[in-house]
Amino acid sequence: MREVASSAELRAATDAARQRGAGVGFVPTMGALHAGHRALLARARAENDLVVASVFVNPLQFGPAEDLASYPRDREADLAVLTAEGTDLVFLPAEREVWPAPPKVRLRVTGSLADRLEGLIRPGHLDGVATVVAKLLHLVGPSRAYFGQKDAQQLAMVRRMVEDLAFPNEIVACPTVREPDGLAVSSRNAYLSAAERERATTLYRALSAGRAAFLAGRRDPGAVEAAAREVLDAVAGVKPDYVALVDPATFEPVRHAEPGQVLASAARVGQTRLIDNVLL
Ligand code: AMP
Repeated sequence: MREVASSAELRAATDAARQRGAGVGFVPTMGALHAGHRALLARARAENDLVVASVFVNPLQFGPAEDLASYPRDREADLAVLTAEGTDLVFLPAEREVWPAPPKVRLRVTGSLADRLEGLIRPGHLDGVATVVAKLLHLVGPSRAYFGQKDAQQLAMVRRMVEDLAFPNEIVACPTVREPDGLAVSSRNAYLSAAERERATTLYRALSAGRAAFLAGRRDPGAVEAAAREVLDAVAGVKPDYVALVDPATFEPVRHAEPGQVLASAARVGQTRLIDNVLL
């Protein structure tokens, strides 16, 4: 695996691959790589000639009170995972390489993707993601870029960005990888104490209860959300931010529950904020 820290080197490598006619797959990450990232890398490996990953903790997508400084970073462990998954090229830029100065031109996410759920609770977060993903897609120029369903609103935003702004990249969504007890694998799970880790399983149990209500025939979105909410409310020390059944592309509320919609939730367990979702 080749490691590059400069944008110019990255671009030269991917330009050369494209000129050879190679299919380029790209997996952007913030590091602290886990089984969720591995699934994206494995899928990219299976579908492309050249697999490029990036590890960059993007300051633009963190709010002032968020965990930018404490976000887990482990370069050696990340390199081992990337190598094991057959990654060809990893972009490991310093912050000043990507943002030598705060960018004066940025992308802004609008409408329901920006105003609801994660957009509402983390103002500017999706703008920061859009701005860095746009830059990384320009630098790498992949045929396909891989994103996790775990971050469903981010995935919807990236799909919409690519459509609205005519990016020539295919966006590939990968299913959420979970621990055996259902907890979605996340870099932020490392913040949980043993007791919190146990309570954290409530999130997936709640979403599963909502989905079960749908499978049992409930079509009223309020009833599906209430079934999930009931499970969350039964556990002290789990503080839900929201439970919402939404359209997977727009994140607008739905009138009738239908297959393919996203039941999304975010909750605080101690100081840690966890998000998860299931597809109906
Ligand atoms: P992050 O490093 O958290 O920015 O995540 C990088 C990519 O991995 C994003 O596309 C995430 O949606 C995806 N990802 C994170 N956790 C999981 C998971 N448990 N299953 C599948 N994809 C995931």
